[in-house]
Amino acid sequence: MRIRVDLKPSELPRSWYNALADLPFELDPPLDPETSKPVNPENLLAIFPRPIVEQEMTKERFVAIPEEVLREYSVFRPTPLFRANFLEEYLQTPARIYYKYEGASPTGSHKTNTAIAQAYFNKIDGVKRLVTETGAGQWGSALSYAGSKFGLEVKVFMVRISYEQKPMRKDLMKLFGGDVTPSPSDKTEFGKKLLEEDPNNPGSLGIAISEALEMAVNNSDTKYALGSVLNHVLLHQTVIGLEIKKQLEVLGEKPNVIIGCHGGGSNFGGTILPFVPDRLSRDDLEFVASEPKACPSLTEGEFRYDHGDTAGLTPLFKMYTLGKDFIPPKIHAGGLRYHGSSPIIARMVKEGLVKAEAYEQDEVFKWAKIFAKLEGIVPAPESAHAIASAIRHALLAKEEGKEKVIVFNLSGHGLFDLSAYS
Ligand SMILES: *Cc1c(COP(=O)(O)O)cnc(C)c1O
Repeated sequence: MRIRVDLKPSELPRSWYNALADLPFELDPPLDPETSKPVNPENLLAIFPRPIVEQEMTKERFVAIPEEVLREYSVFRPTPLFRANFLEEYLQTPARIYYKYEGASPTGSHKTNTAIAQAYFNKIDGVKRLVTETGAGQWGSALSYAGSKFGLEVKVFMVRISYEQKPMRKDLMKLFGGDVTPSPSDKTEFGKKLLEEDPNNPGSLGIAISEALEMAVNNSDTKYALGSVLNHVLLHQTVIGLEIKKQLEVLGEKPNVIIGCHGGGSNFGGTILPFVPDRLSRDDLEFVASEPKACPSLTEGEFRYDHGDTAGLTPLFKMYTLGKDFIPPKIHAGGLRYHGSSPIIARMVKEGLVKAEAYEQDEVFKWAKIFAKLEGIVPAPESAHAIASAIRHALLAKEEGKEKVIVFNLSGHGLFDLSAYS
């Protein structure tokens, strides 16, 4: 029998966990691009509502989840934790492999966890319209869904290559009332400039962020929402890891390896950060971030200050970066095509608290197909990086003859990515 653990609705976490309260370092502050001095939080209010700016800066260990957000979480949370019994059998590994399934959300990925929270905090701050970017379309659809729940308009700049490769994602955004434009576009000065230079520019997350920011800064009733990278996004995503903790307790299991795919670091951070106290007190626990060889920010990037977007509008963040002008190859894991990384995760890599691994697209899809047949879930190409990594560690455990407990986050399903599979 396949083992699964479902928590009761009453076991939904009531607070997000802020690992910055426990991590043994202070993050380098974001810098103002004009003055090169630490950013004044007041300046961030031009693009984010006050509650989000406060969450971005807070050192409090727990941040209460508002009732209205819990109510929306209850539509799909708590999400299940599965034991990969069929995969284990196939691999003949002594490792026990578990995965958290975030594809159970209304738009098929973990991104709704922060989309709902961000829409709520914008709503109570009087914002009328949210503007954002999306790569593969998961973030745009999550924010469109969340916006419709809280009565906000949502405007989405979608990376052009994904807009063309994944038309159904665009339809999903529209279904939830989102207004979608391929990026680079002629709706912003920055987009126009890029299209003049190259009408076939495939776009990138960095470019789409620049367009969204330009629109937010120029409209007073409009704020910007980011789907990854920033501290408050990782904070909202900790609901994943907090649930995993309870689910592993039900099983009496202690994890040895916790794995997530890494684009901007939000599903990975949300999965591992609640285990930071364990990681600091036990030497038989490791965190592994899995990324594409084609966009290897953590494994081959430089640890330095860089912009989060291509135009250089965002503050400078200390992170692993491939450079803000890096345009990643057109791989199918659109959500992993980002030049930078979360400052929290980057610093954890730097300090040796997180290990990063990079995988080739062919290997990732090979395992994704095997996983789909064995476990009955078609994984998103992004999530398939976590699967490849979990399998590598399970095979390593087999070589070493060790009974390891491996947990990974299956960040989303791939039912909108079937063209990538074919
Ligand atoms: C967006 C996305 C990712 C990558 O983003 P992170 O912020 O690194 O989590 C991974 N998996 C899925 C399914 C996504 O939608």
